[in-house]
Amino acid sequence: MTTTLTQRVCKSYKVLVGLEIHVQLATKSKMFTGAANGFGGEPNSQVDEVVLGLPGVLPVMNKKAVEYAMKVGLALGCKIAKHTKWDRKSYYYPDLPKNYQISQYDLPLCYEGSFEIPGEDGNPVRVRVRRAHLEEDAGKLLHEAPGGYAIDWSIVDLNRAGTPLLEIVTEPDLTTPKQVAAFGQELQKLVQFLGVSEGQMQMGHMRFEPNINVHITDQDGAVHKTAITEIKNLNSFSVLERATAYEIQRQIRQWEETGDLGRKSTYGWDEPSESTFHQRDKEDADDYRYFPDPDLVPVEPSDEWVAEIKGQIGELPAARRKRYVGALGLSEKDAAILAGDREIGDFFEQVIAGGAEAKRASTLMEALREMSNEKSVPLMKLGVKPVRVAEIAALVVGGKVAASKETAKKIIDALAQGDRPAEQAAADLGLIQSTDTGAIDAAIDALIAQNPKSLQDYKGGKLTALGSLVGMVMKSGKGLNAKLVQEQLKKRLG
Ligand code: MN
Repeated sequence: MTTTLTQRVCKSYKVLVGLEIHVQLATKSKMFTGAANGFGGEPNSQVDEVVLGLPGVLPVMNKKAVEYAMKVGLALGCKIAKHTKWDRKSYYYPDLPKNYQISQYDLPLCYEGSFEIPGEDGNPVRVRVRRAHLEEDAGKLLHEAPGGYAIDWSIVDLNRAGTPLLEIVTEPDLTTPKQVAAFGQELQKLVQFLGVSEGQMQMGHMRFEPNINVHITDQDGAVHKTAITEIKNLNSFSVLERATAYEIQRQIRQWEETGDLGRKSTYGWDEPSESTFHQRDKEDADDYRYFPDPDLVPVEPSDEWVAEIKGQIGELPAARRKRYVGALGLSEKDAAILAGDREIGDFFEQVIAGGAEAKRASTLMEALREMSNEKSVPLMKLGVKPVRVAEIAALVVGGKVAASKETAKKIIDALAQGDRPAEQAAADLGLIQSTDTGAIDAAIDALIAQNPKSLQDYKGGKLTALGSLVGMVMKSGKGLNAKLVQEQLKKRLG
């Protein structure tokens, strides 16, 4: 009897990842009741009869949550359903008092979208969005009492139960772990820009579940497709990227070692061992016994309503970023920073409207950002008006103050303490430069008398010496305008 050892070698492979993302919407009240929707608070303080699922209560749809969901859907290029409804997804778990979650099954509010993210090579990657639907969150099971007391049973906090959740599902268009993380980050920026979610990962506002499989080409050119696995509940971009990378390699390794392509199943991520672990096999259709919720009316967004929401979205970060690079000539990096936050982008545009040239306005925004970091005060709360920043730009252009970030920061700091014309603030700080040519000439005379060596260097053709000469004149006289000093020097030295 002979045995044949089959060698399996992965010659090349193609990765297919689709993402499911749950985003908590920052509405004031919950999805189907007026109970407060917010993080923190005493356990079970943000609940009412509806959240508790008491007999006889009726849910009422939160219109704001539907609007927020439509905003995200439209920003993701989705179509908005003309007719959608609410379905009960039944399962029994202690954090779900009704024993069903209200969700949307076959008729999601938003569908067939497409979203571009920056790729690793600089080219945009297009990711199709299958659907985005609304549902309610479950409560939280705690295995430790508040205050850290050990208990040998579990307790439930229903503050999170009933929070509006937007579940976004992409097609498997992501092909690398970095792309997966990039999608998450772009989506975070988007929901923050739209003002529909705080998008704070550490607070669980966004939870990611990558669905991963690999098409392996072996040494004979045959293609082997691994079964799709889903990694549950990842809530940091770093974990999202590392878990995806690990799972791709795990599937390839498993096939190489055993020939097993795996089964459709659910995995978890274990941070201490930096690996995924098997949780359960997944039946093709989980038996959630979906059926339309008889207590809620269908939602039929009118064209007018959708148009109104569309009008509120305005220019999206990606479009703004492109415009800042293309039309305003900013660097990709500066454009990304300014366009990433709606208020900061608006502020920047007001500085330009105040007369500042775009690149100078961008440099001044950088000075504002640094001040904001140094003071630990959000930029918008520094108390500096855009028009004042435009005035600083004019002072620089007019040669009245030095063209340096340090000077700008000093003026900004003074303006943050009390609003007044930027020129007055600069004058109070003694930053107004002298444009008195008599004083400049006197300083140059003194320099010529004291530094014959530098002068010889310059006359001998060392043009770089001019900079050091200017520096010396600036030091010798007080508050002289560097540009005028340079002009006068050139004239005097021929
Ligand atoms: Mn869900």
